[in-house]
Amino acid sequence: MPAMNTPDDAIQTTPSRCEDGRINLLGLTRTGLEDYFQARGERPFRAVQLLKWIHQQRVTEFSAMTNISKDLRERLEREAEVQLPEVVSTQTSRDGTIKWLVRVASENCIEMVFIPDEPRGTLCISSQVGCALNCTFCSTARQGFNRNLSSAEIIAQVWLARELLENDIAGRRAITNIVLMGMGEPLLNFDNVVDALELMLEDNAHCFAKRRVTLSTAGVVPKIDALRQRCPVSLAVSLHAPNDELRDRLVPLNKHYPIRDLLAACRRYVQDDAREKVTFEYVLLAGVNDRPEHARQLAALLADVPAKVNLIPFNPFPSSGYECPPKHVIDEFRDILMAKKIITITRKTRGGDIDAACGQLAGKVQPRSRRMQLRQSGRSAPLATATVTLPAKQLQS
Ligand code: SAH
Repeated sequence: MPAMNTPDDAIQTTPSRCEDGRINLLGLTRTGLEDYFQARGERPFRAVQLLKWIHQQRVTEFSAMTNISKDLRERLEREAEVQLPEVVSTQTSRDGTIKWLVRVASENCIEMVFIPDEPRGTLCISSQVGCALNCTFCSTARQGFNRNLSSAEIIAQVWLARELLENDIAGRRAITNIVLMGMGEPLLNFDNVVDALELMLEDNAHCFAKRRVTLSTAGVVPKIDALRQRCPVSLAVSLHAPNDELRDRLVPLNKHYPIRDLLAACRRYVQDDAREKVTFEYVLLAGVNDRPEHARQLAALLADVPAKVNLIPFNPFPSSGYECPPKHVIDEFRDILMAKKIITITRKTRGGDIDAACGQLAGKVQPRSRRMQLRQSGRSAPLATATVTLPAKQLQS
């Protein structure tokens, strides 16, 4: 395993306590709330009542929670709160895609995106402020990494989007699918992401079916197994290259978890359900990973994995150094995979005019270290030689 740099800005989570010491109940799972009430001598069924008020009725004032005794409401007001981050701007694309900029503590902003595609409505949410993985073709990587989002900040995105979409003057719209494909690497913020996933699936909260929630990862192998144990939602893997030599360059995390190990974890992830497949994302970069031999190599790799492939035409951003291949190249790549019986879909680019497409989310990430300040001022090392900078703690199995 190559040496790892441990950044001086070790991954941190905002406390679930507010500045005045009150605890934010928004990010607590059913079990978390049960523990909270039990510790205060209250019956555990209060947890379900709270979940319904907060996530289904979207009530944030304890005083309005009328089936809870007055005494308990007053106590909650003193000791707790339901605090949501603020939506600071909204942009709507010509194709109907909506991007919201959401301010989380310390002046950082993350982005979330709603992609309407009748009859579906997909919400794409973020899991970290920035990202530490340095994938060379991704604009979030350029922002550097600041911190993990708390479970409250992750589930707040679902809460806010539902509220905004249900009250939209353009008409009420439903979220049918959630994808963790926004800013950040969700499996490097494992506990908070799992808590938020549980709230997405919880019958008394957001009540999504498991297969309608997809977590996308660059391939943190031990955490793929952990996710299978804890909360097996649909899995998408950002593969982007059919061999280690090329993937090491595009997705530096590959130096820690090479393709062989990654695919073995993917096989394990779906082994108990014959209908399940892992989605492999493959961003097509002109002249880099888009040749027919790459497609043939990819087909051979996936021959014994229950897989479908999402080809993502590269979405450009300033000074990326990459280009999107022409349509005939993308079509030929897809046809080679299909000829090998691999289900392949070319993802439509959505929200490109408002920088809301895959890999274009940048938010506003406050620098935490000199390394990041250098990168943000454009004086970084050449991208091809960028090192993976991860907290060692997060990479251990
Ligand atoms: N860190 C996770 C979650 C991000 S998902 C992961 O890597 O899966 C965002 C998806 O968009 C990933 O598949 C990512 O590789 C892809 N992507 C990043 N930059 C892109 C770009 N410029 N054009 C197209 N897709 C891109």
